[in-house]
Amino acid sequence: QTEALKRYASIQDKPALTECGQIVELHMNAGLMADLPSLESSGAEGVGLFRTELQFLVRNQMPRRSELSALYTRVLDAAQGKRVVFRTLDIGSDKVLPYMKPTDEPNPALGWRAIRVGLDKPGVMQMQLQALIRAAQGRPLTLMFPFVAQYEEYRQARAALDKAIARETRLGHVIPDDIEVGAMLETPSLGFAPRQFFEDVGFLSIGGNDLKQFFFAADRENERVRKRYDSLNVSFLSFLEQIVERCADTGTPLSFCGEDAGRPVEALCLAAIGLRSLSMRPASIGPVKSLLRRSNLEEVRKVIMDARHRGEMSVRPAIMKWLAEQG
Ligand code: PEP
Ligand code: MG
Repeated sequence: QTEALKRYASIQDKPALTECGQIVELHMNAGLMADLPSLESSGAEGVGLFRTELQFLVRNQMPRRSELSALYTRVLDAAQGKRVVFRTLDIGSDKVLPYMKPTDEPNPALGWRAIRVGLDKPGVMQMQLQALIRAAQGRPLTLMFPFVAQYEEYRQARAALDKAIARETRLGHVIPDDIEVGAMLETPSLGFAPRQFFEDVGFLSIGGNDLKQFFFAADRENERVRKRYDSLNVSFLSFLEQIVERCADTGTPLSFCGEDAGRPVEALCLAAIGLRSLSMRPASIGPVKSLLRRSNLEEVRKVIMDARHRGEMSVRPAIMKWLAEQG
C-alpha cells in the first residue's frame, strides 16, 4: 500500500493523461469547510460537487443568509480561484431537515425533494441563491440544481436565479462577473429532455447514485436490491453513452459526480465511453488517475463494445480480464 501511496504522490501534480492522449479532468466532491484542504493535497482541479445541504442538516433551525454567505465566501477563498460547483439545497428523501415539518410520503426517494422543494418553497431557494451571489463578491460563480427531471424545472430554477440577481443588483451588491448554471442529471427523464434543454443548460453533471437507482428502480439504500445491478451493466453504460453523445452534439459540458467516478475500474469505463470530467471523494483521485494514466481508452472502449455484442449482462468480467492481461 505504501508503494501505491508513493505512486499517487508522484503523479499528484500531473494530469490524468491516458496512454491514448486523452485528458480526463479530475475534481473532488466536498460538503464541509474541512474538506477544502484536500483540494491542494489531492491534486484535484476543482470542486466538482459541493453538497450544500450539510449546513442545513447539522443545525436545529434554518441557517441565516449571512451565515451561509460567510461560509460560501470561506469556501471560495480556500479554493483560491479553482472552480467550485455549488449544488443548491438537496433535501428530502434520505436527507430530512429536523426543523421542517416532516412530510408523510410513502416513497420519499420519489417524493418531494431537492429542486421540487426549492421551486415550491421559493423563499428558501432565494435566500440560498442570494447567499451564493454575495459570497462570490464579483468572482465567478458556478452553481447547479439537483434532481431536475424536466426542462421546465430547470427554466423555473434559472428564473429564480435571475430574480435573485436582479434583487441583489437593486440592493447594491456586487454581482459575480460570470455565473455558470447547470443541472444534475439524476433522473432518466432528463436524459430524454428535448434538445433545447441541452442547448440551454450551461453544463450537466450526472449524479450516478440517483441515476442508477432510478434507472434500475432499485433503492440505493437497500443492499439487497442495489447489489443486483452492476454500474457496469451494459444497459446502464448504453444510457450513459447516449447522454455523452447528446451533450457532444449540443456542445454541453458534461461531468459525472456519483460514487462510481471514484472507483478506478468504473472511472476507466466512464472515460472510455466519453466522459472527460469526473468528480469524486479526494482519496480516490490518486487511484483513478494512476489507472487512467496507464490505460488506452480506445482499447477499453473496444472491450466494452465486444462484451455488449456478445450480449453480456455486465462488461465487468471482460474489463477485469483485460486489466489482468495488462499486468
Ligand atoms: C448522486 O446522486 O449521484 C449525487 C452525486 O448526489 P447525492 O449522492 O448527494 O444524492
Ligand atoms: Mg443525488
